[in-house]
Amino acid sequence: MLNIKCPYCGFRDEIEFSCGGEAHISRPELNDKLSDKEWSEYLYSSYNPKGLFIERWVHSAGCRQWFNMVRNTVTNEIYEVYKIGSLPKTKEGLLAFKNNWRRKTKSELIDLKKKKNNARK
Ligand SMILES: [Zn+2]
Repeated sequence: MLNIKCPYCGFRDEIEFSCGGEAHISRPELNDKLSDKEWSEYLYSSYNPKGLFIERWVHSAGCRQWFNMVRNTVTNEIYEVYKIGSLPKTKEGLLAFKNNWRRKTKSELIDLKKKKNNARK
């Protein structure tokens, strides 16, 4: 059983949590110019690597807050948990984030461009 550190409550048993799947998926907006193939990629393609992975988890039997976790799917080692809206800080987390195929999709590139424009304002 995993011993998970909720960023809000501290360490708790895995049974108190639910996994919500892959983290850091940028949602395209309706006026983003995506092809059918790019929309299909966003809607139906998923990432299920053997090794480092960033997942969303919710403390469903506790504070009910969502957070992200960097975990090795082979060893179940947890490298980092962090709040939604921020990026990983550990070497493993940064590697998992960078190596995810989604970073190269058009919806991710559009989202990155919007974030850079908002940062300038
Ligand atoms: Zn909690």
